[in-house]
Order: sequence, then C-alpha cells, then structure tokens
Amino acid sequence: MSEELNAKGYEIPPEMRNMVAVTTLDKLYNWGRRYSAWPMMFGLACCAIEMIATAASRFDLSRFGMEIMRPSPRQADVMLVSGTVTKKMVPQIVRLYNQMPEPKYVIAMGACASGGGPFKEGYNVVSGIDKFLPVDVYIPGCPPTPQALLYGLMKLQEMMEKQSIKTVRWYQKEDLPAIPVPILGPDLIDPRDFPEFQVKLAQAADQAQVEE
Ligand code: SF4
Repeated sequence: MSEELNAKGYEIPPEMRNMVAVTTLDKLYNWGRRYSAWPMMFGLACCAIEMIATAASRFDLSRFGMEIMRPSPRQADVMLVSGTVTKKMVPQIVRLYNQMPEPKYVIAMGACASGGGPFKEGYNVVSGIDKFLPVDVYIPGCPPTPQALLYGLMKLQEMMEKQSIKTVRWYQKEDLPAIPVPILGPDLIDPRDFPEFQVKLAQAADQAQVEE
C-alpha cells in the first residue's frame, strides 16, 4: 500500500515500507477516490446482465472497491450506462446524472450506449449517451464481457489518478451548470437546440412573408 502511495525519488528503507509513505496531497486524494468509486445501480438492457455478472462472486467488483452499488444517485460516483438508450429513457438518465454529486463519472458500456449499436438510427433510440452526458470511458462490445467492464473500470481508475485538486472541475469557483433534461414530444427535443430552432422559425417566418 505505502509503495503505491510513495512519491518517486523518496526511497523508504525496506524495514519501514508498509508503514511510512512520503507522498503528495493529490496522490493521497486520488488513491482514496480510486478505490471507493460507487456505481449507481441501474441497467437499461442486455449489457446490464454482464454488469450484474461483474458484481457477482466470479468476477467480484469488490476487488476494486466498487462493490457498493447505490440505488440512489445522491450516493453514487459512477454512472454505468449499460444498454440501449431509448428516447423514452434519456430524460430520466440525464435527471439522474444531474442528481449525482461531484465528483462523478460516466461509463458507456457496450455498443448501444456508445453509439446506438445494432439499433443505431432506430426511431426510438439515441445514437450514444455522449450526445447528452460527458462520457469518460467507452467500452466496446455487444455485450462487453465482465472482463471488458473491469478493464474499463481500471481505465477510469487510471484517469482518476491523473487528476489534480487544483484543476478538477468540482473545486473551481464558478458553479457547474446542470445538463438540460431532454423533453419528450412527437420526437425527443434537446433544450440545448432551442437557439437553432429560433433561427429556423425566424427564417420560416421571413420566407412566409416573402411569399405573401
Ligand atoms: S450492446 Fe448489445 S448486448 Fe448491449 S444492450 Fe446493446 S444489443 Fe444488448
């Protein structure tokens, strides 16, 4: 443990290892976070079965400190988007993401969550959760195996390890804006597209006036 924490260039005598570490605040902070990332407990489609298998005894997520899957977004650090993201579900997924406290991470598990998968451009399917949420790790596969999910989680741990207290977004002075929740209508509406709609409406009104 102390060897992992110890900063390079500070040699600890062998008899003191496992007892003493000379380290930085960033390293200590990230070491604690990487072994206690709690995923949110929800699944969307077939990929979720592989996610459940990863948490069970054969693969055992607890080896990575991630066995505590939380059913509440208020207590979760990692959103595992495991399965097909339908237009009907995406408002709920964005709302849940907004309810998670920082620091929070998103993993797109499988072809569907990463880009629509076999249902890409289906009338009811979103072509990847990254159209709405900031994805940190993409895991390919249909479905990805539990080993692939574990590899993705390890990549997330590596990413956490490289972050610094000075630059992480959750310690900056300005408030982090919530992501606008998409609206269900005849089709899915992304509130971030409103300025574009207004331009198109104005163009249509001008066109109608010219035709009169
Ligand atoms: S990627 Fe494949 S296994 Fe995963 S949800 Fe889509 S269809 Fe199912």
